[in-house]
Amino acid sequence: LSERLGGVFDRLTKQGALSEDDVKTALREVRVALLEADVSLPVAREFIKAVQGKATGAAVTKSVTPGQQVVKIVHDELVHFLAGSNETPGELKVDSPPAPILMVGLQGSGKTTTTAKLARRLTERNGKRVLMASLDVNRPAAMEQLAILGTQVGVDTLPIIKGQTPVDIARRAKQQATLGGYDVYMLDTAGRLSIDDQLMAEVEAVRDVTTPRETLLVVDGLTGQDAVHTAENFDARIGISGVVLTRMDGDGRGGAALSMRYVTGQPIKFVGLGEKMDALEEFHPERIAGRILGMGDIVSLVEKAQETLEIEQAERMMKRFQKGQFNMNDLRSQLEQMLKMGGMEGVMGMMPGMGKMKNQVADAGFDDSVLRRQIALINSMTKKERAAPQILQASRKKRIAKGAGLEVSELNKLLKMHRQMSDMMKKMGKKGLLKQAMAGMF
Ligand code: GDP
Ligand code: MG
Repeated sequence: LSERLGGVFDRLTKQGALSEDDVKTALREVRVALLEADVSLPVAREFIKAVQGKATGAAVTKSVTPGQQVVKIVHDELVHFLAGSNETPGELKVDSPPAPILMVGLQGSGKTTTTAKLARRLTERNGKRVLMASLDVNRPAAMEQLAILGTQVGVDTLPIIKGQTPVDIARRAKQQATLGGYDVYMLDTAGRLSIDDQLMAEVEAVRDVTTPRETLLVVDGLTGQDAVHTAENFDARIGISGVVLTRMDGDGRGGAALSMRYVTGQPIKFVGLGEKMDALEEFHPERIAGRILGMGDIVSLVEKAQETLEIEQAERMMKRFQKGQFNMNDLRSQLEQMLKMGGMEGVMGMMPGMGKMKNQVADAGFDDSVLRRQIALINSMTKKERAAPQILQASRKKRIAKGAGLEVSELNKLLKMHRQMSDMMKKMGKKGLLKQAMAGMF
């Protein structure tokens, strides 16, 4: 019975799959949106191609149009891609003191400002002792600019000695950082109006005498099509470990974020939001993705529809539980859910009236490995047995336990738990408590 019901649920939640045409039509609009957000053309093209393959054949949520569904998929992909894996936004590698951080980028991108902002952050949030040094020997007042910012944020700067080369200054910074017991030293390099060989050679030489723990490329978030070129060049010659996008307080839509990530594969670490020293925050992929795509209304509409569906599904499930139709398939999905939600204790804590059971559970040494063994036992049952566990007698029990590589006694415990839960749900259903309990879970 429940197998059939499961099938019905599936059909109710889906109104078919996205066809190739649905996807293509919707992606044409997405492409325009990306280009308007200043995502560079080759990156927009590649991104769309990747999403096309993923979206075709995907399920369409009830009460949502195929086009809306595609937008939601694009949005999720965008967030996923911008977020990367295993990355903590706003984290810098500053172990093994003194850790050098090299700041690179074009002239006017915000390197000097960002250097001071980051130094302030490392000092105030991470309790690091930071030394900043300006390696900009080209612009007359560049070194003074950093010194003034240093005074403003209360971070030391390397004393200015005119006439030194960037490499000389970098060496001096390293020495001073070591002798002075600093945790971090930041090297603010000179920019150029565009990529040129001399600039790259200069930065390379500095890199080679310091071996930076982080090399951050600072990019103006308003840069459009040039972003890719800049990122490619710096990454190829210097090798960057992350990107800082500045001027995101402006009305640019931040397509450079996607381009940068695509071309370098390196994470966007911070976002600059103004000229003030506190106008810096860690990168939030969701926010930038929303801004790049500019289709927030559609995304939240699809999310709403999905939520509504989940609630409907939960309610249907609840009606069955009230009637005592709580079978092993249901128990298995509950157990799987528990695993996902941080184990037994976490879930029990969320359900009203389960306090006592929670203590029992804790006493019995109930943990995730128990959940996994129970799931294995259920997996070892036939369809028929899962739907109607009351038919289990000795020979079936033996077979099931053996199949899961476990003892019959463990299976008996599982069956007892199932009976207890099923009785409790019936009782709670009569008192209207089940609804309350489940409302807390979904
Ligand atoms: P550099 O040449 O790369 O060192 O760039 P600077 O740090 O000197 O910055 C150039 C200009 O951009 C300065 O006027 C900064 O105040 C400004 N700036 C830097 N970051 C931001 C930002 O996130 N938002 C805004 N609005 N201005 C910024
Ligand atoms: Mg500068």
